[in-house]
Amino acid sequence: MATPAQAFFAKTLLRWYEQHKRSLPWRDTTNPYYIWLSEVILQQTRVAQGLPYYHKFVAAYPTVQELAAAPEDEVLRLWQGLGYYSRARNMHHTAIIVTDELNGQFPNNYEALLKLKGIGSYTAAAIAAFAFKEQVAVLDGNVFRVLSRVFGISDDIVVPASRKVFQKLADGLVPADAPDTYNQAIMEFGAIQCTPVMPDCLFCPLQQSCFAFNNGMVQELPVKKKAKAARPRYFHYIVLEHEGAFYLRKRLEGDIWQGLYDFYLYESANKNLPLETLVQELQQAGLDVDLEHIQPPLKDYKHILSHQKITARFYRIRLHSRLKEEVLKETRVALFDVEKIEALPKPVLINSYLKEAKILVYL
Ligand code: SF4
Repeated sequence: MATPAQAFFAKTLLRWYEQHKRSLPWRDTTNPYYIWLSEVILQQTRVAQGLPYYHKFVAAYPTVQELAAAPEDEVLRLWQGLGYYSRARNMHHTAIIVTDELNGQFPNNYEALLKLKGIGSYTAAAIAAFAFKEQVAVLDGNVFRVLSRVFGISDDIVVPASRKVFQKLADGLVPADAPDTYNQAIMEFGAIQCTPVMPDCLFCPLQQSCFAFNNGMVQELPVKKKAKAARPRYFHYIVLEHEGAFYLRKRLEGDIWQGLYDFYLYESANKNLPLETLVQELQQAGLDVDLEHIQPPLKDYKHILSHQKITARFYRIRLHSRLKEEVLKETRVALFDVEKIEALPKPVLINSYLKEAKILVYL
């Protein structure tokens, strides 16, 4: 049974949502596949950036079976530009499990959804609440922030143990008669009204009961431990070209961008690398290139990931003959024509280079 304060909170959010909600396609459906797609896409991604990807995926794969049947390269290519590529790989994997083991049907409750590989507590709660109206709270960054501020909770939201504290409070707030709308409402409230920086406290319907507002702690809540500084990495890409085609290779697991394609890569500990040293390193890998055949990098490409700061340089080399079999084996590169390269899934960094170097013109 909700306390009067809990009931007021839920009612106020529902009323606010009615007036302020944005119209988004995944809000007009109870199809668990579409809801799941949207939730995976929107993790770590703003709505404006995720929306075109949602449309692309729904158009390319209208059913979970069609997503499961797609080649992984194709799924990654469609995902290109969204980052956190493990999301796309896991999503594809989960689609295969749902298709092969569950006859294409998503389980219809939180506990069963949680047992599915690739579906965590957040996504399970979202599908259960939005598709099956289960009375369970969805906890995303927006919800953490709203609850922390309104109820004055100072547990660090990055620490896993804090989740239990927030989940317990959040579950008690979900009204039995509108779990789907209420969960949408609190997430939307965090995204639009109670934003991380400059929340609109002046015109907030929860102002009077908000702990952070009444105690001058809006900027202090939620408590979030600072992330470690991003690790700098220095990539030297060797762009081997033969008669208009280029050698690329598929990235392996154990590092960023697994499953995507890039050029042969030499990574150095420091930013500056003398060309002579690079040539020696390449020769050790069986790539017999001369200094005078290397077109030196024209600029540094910067790419920032959550824990890494990458500086990349591209060295273009025109080869007179194809690489020998043993070199292909050693370096794992393969020759692709430009049309094929366009269709390959690639990190945004590689795409930017291909575009600026006018190798891919129609990106
Ligand atoms: S008063 Fe400010 S901090 Fe409190 S809920 Fe409203 S917008 Fe958020």
